[in-house]
Parts: sequence; C-alpha cells; structure tokens
Amino acid sequence: MTPVHDRTAWLQGGKAVCLQPPTRVDRIWRLVLLGPPGSGKGTQAELLAHSLGACALSTGDVFRAARGHPAPPGSAMAVAQEQMARGELVTDNSVLALIRERGRCLRCSGGFMLDGFPRTLAQAEAIDALLVAENLQLDAVVSYELPTPEIIARLSGRRTCPACKSVFHVETCPPKREAVCDRCGGALVQREDDRPEAIQVRLEAYQSATVPLAAHYQKKGLLFPISAAGLPAEILARTLDALAIRVLGL
Ligand code: AMP
Repeated sequence: MTPVHDRTAWLQGGKAVCLQPPTRVDRIWRLVLLGPPGSGKGTQAELLAHSLGACALSTGDVFRAARGHPAPPGSAMAVAQEQMARGELVTDNSVLALIRERGRCLRCSGGFMLDGFPRTLAQAEAIDALLVAENLQLDAVVSYELPTPEIIARLSGRRTCPACKSVFHVETCPPKREAVCDRCGGALVQREDDRPEAIQVRLEAYQSATVPLAAHYQKKGLLFPISAAGLPAEILARTLDALAIRVLGL
C-alpha cells in the first residue's frame, strides 16, 4: 500500500497534528538529502517518501507555506521571507527555532527525510545533538551531485504550481498548456528565488555553507554521493540501490 503522507504538523508547526498518522512501514528510514539547488532533491524526496514510507520534510516548504500568512514587519518570519526572496540563507536561529517547534516530526514513528536541512555546519551540529537527545540515528546522508551549468539550466527554466506543488520545465518538461498546471489547472509561476540574480546567490551560499557538510557526514560514515544527472526515475533507482547496498547490506 502506498503510504499516506500528511505534513500538516510539519508545515504548520506548533500544536498542529497530522490528520493521518503514518501507516506501518517495514523499516523506519531517517535520511538527510543534500544537494545544490536544482539538483532535484525535492523531487527525489517526494519519490523516496512513496518508496520508503517516511515523510519528506522541507524547510523551504515551511517558509513558502508561511507566505500565505503575512508576517508582521521586522518579525523573524518576515525577515526570513526577505532573505529567501534574495536567494540568501535564512539565519540559523530562525531555522533552528522552526525545527524545534516541529520536534515531533523528527520523533515520528514513520521516520523522516530532511530536504534542505541542515544547510550549515551549525545546523548539522544542532540536528546531531537533537537526535542524540532522542536516541535516534540517521541512516544515511544522500548527497546529490550535478555540474553547475546543468543546475543553472534546470533552475532558470523551472516553473512550479503554487497550488499542488507540481514542477515543470519550460524546455525539458513543459506543461500541455503554456503556464497552466497539468495536474490541477493552477497558474504556473517562476519561484522568486529561481530568477538569475537569486540563483547566483543560492549557488554561492551552497558552496560556502553547505558543501562543508559533506566532510562532516563523511567522517561519520554516513555520506552517499549520488549523481543527479538523468531522469527522476533513474536517480531514484540509483538512490534506492545505494541505500539497499550500503545500509541494508543487500
Ligand atoms: P529550498 O526550497 O530548500 O531551496 O529553500 C528555499 C529557501 O528557503 C532557501 O534558499 C533559503 O532562503 C531558505 N531555507 C530553506 N531551508 C533553509 C535552511 N535549512 N537554512 C537556511 N535557509 C533555508
């Protein structure tokens, strides 16, 4: 049976609860997905969620979901949204406050796949401490790799549906009707942070803040580098093979 993934508690935080708790899974997976913007890790997170039964938890989705509720000027969320629109990283303090508010999702009996978190060493150390305190362990850190020119081509042509989150690409995966979502008929948009000036800032942030995480997880023996070239189904197959071989020893 395909597991049901309700992320209400993740997206809303606080006292929000999932409407449908996780279905029973054979194995509980706790993964971190690393990769530059445009490497397709969000798509892989969704595909892995269906294959492995754990929820895909994206910090970027939380910031985007909060957009619908205007934050008071100067508040942490308002500042975070301005940083995000420019392609900058949101401060560690804001991100960690958001994660702590959602601690239950990390303790969830269905496991988790973290997409877009941690993104700095400080965040990685904070999640390490949080998991130790809960007596939980990561199974693997999957690191998606893609050459920069391909990243830029993917990001600049990406169009997303704000209503159902479907993702298209103007050249490689165009919608049937221009700028209209095939799945729900919503109007497709270009994410503010997919504009060329923001892409540049995001790539620089990835190089300086997130690339060092690979060494952090390599030392722990958790790092699985995976090529993010090709079709989503091919990348998924590569990821599942790596997990089966390296984690399950199959
Ligand atoms: P994403 O959807 O993961 O590409 O995230 C979109 C944007 O949200 C990023 O460019 C950052 O501005 C912000 N963001 C998401 N997650 C984090 C994080 N863990 N640390 C800092 N900023 C983040």
